[in-house]
Amino acid sequence: MIEYESTICPYCSCGCGIYLVIKDGKIIGQEPQHEHPINEGGNCPKGRNAYQFLYADDRLKTPLIKKDGRLEESTWDEALDLIAAKLKKADPDDFGLLASGKNTNEEAYVLQKFARVIMGTNNVEYCGRLCHSPTAAGLGPTVGSGVMPISQLDIQKADCIFLVGINPKETFPMMAKRILRAKEKGAKVIVLDPRKTVTARDIGNIHLQLEPGTDIAVLNSMMKVILDEGLESKEFIESRTEGIERLRDHLASLDLKEMEKISGVPLKELKKAARWLAKAEIGCVLYNQGLNQHSKGADNVKALATLALVTGQYGRPGTGISPTRGQINGEGTGDMGCLNVFYPGFQRVGTGASEKFEKLWGVDNLPSKPGYPYTKMLQETKYLWVVGTNPMMAAPDVDSVREALERKELLIVQDIFPTETAQLADVVLPVATWVEREGIHAYVDRRVQKINRIIDPPAEAKPDWWIVCQLAERMGYKSKFDFSSPGEIFEEIRRCVPPYKGITYERLEKTVGGIQWPCPTEDHPGTTTFFTKKFNTPDGLGHLQVVDYRPQAEQPDEDYPYVLTTGRSIFHYHTGSMTRRTPKLNDETPKGFCQINPTDAVAEKIRNGDKVILKTRRGSIEAEAHVTDEVPKGLVFLPFHFGESCANKLTNPVLDPACGMPEYKACAVKIEVKT
Ligand code: SF4
Repeated sequence: MIEYESTICPYCSCGCGIYLVIKDGKIIGQEPQHEHPINEGGNCPKGRNAYQFLYADDRLKTPLIKKDGRLEESTWDEALDLIAAKLKKADPDDFGLLASGKNTNEEAYVLQKFARVIMGTNNVEYCGRLCHSPTAAGLGPTVGSGVMPISQLDIQKADCIFLVGINPKETFPMMAKRILRAKEKGAKVIVLDPRKTVTARDIGNIHLQLEPGTDIAVLNSMMKVILDEGLESKEFIESRTEGIERLRDHLASLDLKEMEKISGVPLKELKKAARWLAKAEIGCVLYNQGLNQHSKGADNVKALATLALVTGQYGRPGTGISPTRGQINGEGTGDMGCLNVFYPGFQRVGTGASEKFEKLWGVDNLPSKPGYPYTKMLQETKYLWVVGTNPMMAAPDVDSVREALERKELLIVQDIFPTETAQLADVVLPVATWVEREGIHAYVDRRVQKINRIIDPPAEAKPDWWIVCQLAERMGYKSKFDFSSPGEIFEEIRRCVPPYKGITYERLEKTVGGIQWPCPTEDHPGTTTFFTKKFNTPDGLGHLQVVDYRPQAEQPDEDYPYVLTTGRSIFHYHTGSMTRRTPKLNDETPKGFCQINPTDAVAEKIRNGDKVILKTRRGSIEAEAHVTDEVPKGLVFLPFHFGESCANKLTNPVLDPACGMPEYKACAVKIEVKT
């Protein structure tokens, strides 16, 4: 008998509704949900092939323990006893936990609680550090909150859409659909990106093709044009912001011609874009890793938010600047406190949060000093627990990560596949995937949706929350982790995290499309638009920021003459562990490739399809060359999904001092044909 079960796509954070087609307990197909407000009957290629990886031959099915250098099958008792015995000896600063934007809120919540209550440390992070830490560091001081301030449904209301370092046609296809709808109604679309992406090519009215890492030169220039031409929103600036004189003084001496030379963006085009945004009724700004992943990512975000404030583009449906978290629960895992400086609900470490959670959790001595950020945790800890994330592909300068992981006294990896990181582990714990356990996710626009257990996990694989609770019991903390279901964990979340208080499983099960937090009471409909009357800063005002352009940390030179930038493909997801095990997706893009401009290809004697070697000061990899004018002269693009062409062997681990973001998007590289 064929059955249809409703769930949410496991890939990007648009959160599309899908039906899984089930026969004899096995998923055999997928259909998009027509009634779901996000996708309205559509899905992108990833969503259409969402389930095939579940049945890959190398699914982890039993715990594994390393013996004589080899991972061997074990039992849950043996694995958990071994971990508990070792962790009991760990000092707080020696332990670290890395969670994932694929965890449910319930899993993320118990993981961070384990680190704080049992291990006594704030050394808990998730992969969001490597994606959106500049968002928190940039938007926090500017508008007081680093979340998407609107509903993604309202993007289509905009009459000007500014896309900054984001390629929604490939990475957020349902958002791209809404941008196209707005454009069909007359909206102007501005794309700021060094590459001529499919979004720039197919959707943009103007493509501002900047040199990598020169965003601030462009954004400051746009602000200067707006102020010089008197196009700023005077009433909004007067009533809702502070710092306009400081900003005017700073921009007064900005030399637009010099900025044009730095960014490579023609002033004429830049002025046109600035005027469109300033004059728009509803100006919507969306950004992603092209803006964030720099050693000055926080300043990039501050400049963009200041531009939105100067133009008054905040506080109405469809307006504001929206960070676009890529992972299915990139928002929710952060909401739950898997960050070294935030307890659940973004309650900052060192501002009374530990005392508050001591009361809520009935414990003493919660840590009150910040933990290590993600990359430092990889290097500094002796006992590391990695849950659903793959630093051997995702962290910068992978060779140094390998050395650090090989030094660990205990490396625990909890995942669904034997990832590159799992292969280095002392203990590997097999987990259930998204359709094999229950819980909630918060999608890109704070939209909370519930997923249900539809099929059983294979063999001995278990949900992450179960593993945490079992381990807590062995560490002597059963009473603090006495949960028998995700529903019980969620009830504790509702008590501890005010924006989730009014959301219940029952409500979510009845609400197609979910509920956007904050939702303070059970009869509250959820909040679509933030900042309607004031910002989340202490004085309620938007704080205009003054930032200066500074170049990327590593410039091209004689030895490494090109700039390398990294990114994604529509057919793959993050480090590829799911999509590369999905035949229909992997067949579309089966191996690692890099893009090089035709002029550079001629200079380097590279032909389309040649195997090339890319080399930086960190290491070298091989990839297939795709010769295309999607990249400008001097730029090489490398997607980061492919283990055999691992982009992060090459990337620069230099960090943004404000937030710990590595410089993924620009480093110096050389390229040569493999002979
Ligand atoms: Fe899944 Fe995102 Fe594609 Fe929707 S747009 S089907 S959520 S990957």
